[in-house]
Formats: sequence, structure tokens, C-alpha cells
Amino acid sequence: MEGNKKLHPRLEREYKTIRLMTAMYCHDVHGTSEGLCRECDDFLNYARKRLVFCKFQENKTSCGKCPVHCYKPEKREMAIRIMRHSGPKMPFAHPWLAFLHLLDGIKKPKTTLR
Ligand SMILES: [Zn+2]
Repeated sequence: MEGNKKLHPRLEREYKTIRLMTAMYCHDVHGTSEGLCRECDDFLNYARKRLVFCKFQENKTSCGKCPVHCYKPEKREMAIRIMRHSGPKMPFAHPWLAFLHLLDGIKKPKTTLR
């Protein structure tokens, strides 16, 4: 199991979505047949850490509505690339997770506080 801390189930579900999308991206774009390449594995570990340290935890809204953009620039770029590639495929591949749009906040820097 990656990381050293257990995630709240709510965040674990987000992590699962990120993992699936990263795997799709890595398979299609990097041609990885099994598992993840080093770059994607590194990104995934980073994404998990961001959830572990998210100050909102289980009260967290979807990342799309989150007022805090906690990814550093190069990871944010990577997240955008993964979202663009895997996002449109999610409703077909994993319908129950697709609606989460968990990385929307990274794609759209202008968000409104609720
Ligand atoms: Zn990859």
C-alpha cells in the first residue's frame, strides 16, 4: 500500500479515481502494458500525499470546488494532461466514479467559495 497514512474512505475513493485515470493515461500515452511507468507512479504518490495532507479531509468538497490549489506547477500540469485524456473516458469505464470530477479545480483555477 502506498503512503504511510490511511485515508478517510471519502478521500480513498478520490484516490481510487485518480489511480484509475492515471493508469488509463499511462497505458494509452506511455504505452505501459502493466502497472505504471516511473513518471506516473511518482505522480500518483504525490496525489495521494496531497489527499493525506488535505486540511479539509472528510469535509472536503470535490477538488473542483476547493478554494485551495495545493498541487505544485509541474504536478498540476500532469494532472491536467491526465484529466484531458482520461476524463472523457471515465463515464464509460467507471460511471460511478466519473461524476466526482475530482481534479476539476486544477483545470479551472477560478472557483467560487460556497
Ligand atoms: Zn506513464
